[in-house]
Amino acid sequence: MTAALRRDACPSLTAPMLTGDGWLARLTFTDGLSGEGLAGLAAVAARLGNGLIEVTSRGSLQLRGLAQGAKLAEALAPLGLPLAEGLPVVTSPLAGRDPAEAADPRPLAATLRAFAGPLPPKVTALVDGGGAFPLDAVPADVRLLRVAGGWRIGVGGTARTARWQDVCDADTAIAQACDLLTRISREARRGRDLDGLGVAPAPALRPAGAPVGRFGLREDIARAVAFPFGSAESGAVAALAAAAGAARLCPAPGRALVAVELTVADEAAFVGAATRLGFITDPGDPRLAIAACAGAACASGRLPARAIAARIAAERPDMTDGLHLHVSGCPKRCAQPAGPAVTLLADECGTRVTGDGRGVPADLEQYLLEVAR
Ligand code: SF4
Repeated sequence: MTAALRRDACPSLTAPMLTGDGWLARLTFTDGLSGEGLAGLAAVAARLGNGLIEVTSRGSLQLRGLAQGAKLAEALAPLGLPLAEGLPVVTSPLAGRDPAEAADPRPLAATLRAFAGPLPPKVTALVDGGGAFPLDAVPADVRLLRVAGGWRIGVGGTARTARWQDVCDADTAIAQACDLLTRISREARRGRDLDGLGVAPAPALRPAGAPVGRFGLREDIARAVAFPFGSAESGAVAALAAAAGAARLCPAPGRALVAVELTVADEAAFVGAATRLGFITDPGDPRLAIAACAGAACASGRLPARAIAARIAAERPDMTDGLHLHVSGCPKRCAQPAGPAVTLLADECGTRVTGDGRGVPADLEQYLLEVAR
């Protein structure tokens, strides 16, 4: 295991990042995991780390609290997990199985993953075949979206804020995406900071949707649940994996876990286990609108961020209507959502509420400060 020295670098299986609660490894996958594979991974998280497993807003899976020098790659190798290497590329967990998608994004994603150049930390690509799983709110340096007549490329931001290029065929889209990645590599800048790009009208965006619920697939169904505030104990993850029957389990954007190839007969057991274990199964759950970091579990944390977030969701479920809340244990803001948010954070001066340039209603600010007291 080679230690990543920069705190803003992207942690990976072979280059974990030092955080306030030990070393953190971030994993991405080319396909879903079997129930046995996810349960085995959860056991490794408990054995080598602190047992906390996270799914990020982009759908990566994180193991926390790893000891220095922990032999994670060796421990995971016998599980035969479909680990992805190279550039992180986000796709729908339903890819290739979704009757709503206009094209299977996986071949293009595989090509982008193989991009060879060195890239700045956190650079991400996204390939969206236009299916049912919501990806528009996921930020990416380079995004490819299948539309009528071909592919559109969006540079930087989310689908709403990206700078969109004209429609083109798949080969041209890959060539343009690789050119953009080459510029990002050469200029050591993020996609949002690239100069001199033309801007075409944005494609029509799909209605925003929660990454939770039932999706019909070509041959069976998928059921998506979310990790509360992106985090779960390894025991709960293993128990959920055991309830998924023969389904494949895909960590997915929106801090979700999606069981694909799920049979209708297995659906009730999976959803029942998820509910009992504390996962989010209702798309209207207010916890989906609150982001919170590891907080008290982190040496830098000055707030029990996830406990505060859970209390807010329980006490004021309507507060999150049309609003994203963010609770951060320190100014590093590890769990910062992509869009505008009201943030409750603690620093060396105390606890404060910020709207990141937008006004925060006085009653909301007062309530958040009281909850943090
Ligand atoms: S934001 Fe939270 S998880 Fe990140 S360093 Fe600060 S306390 Fe730790």
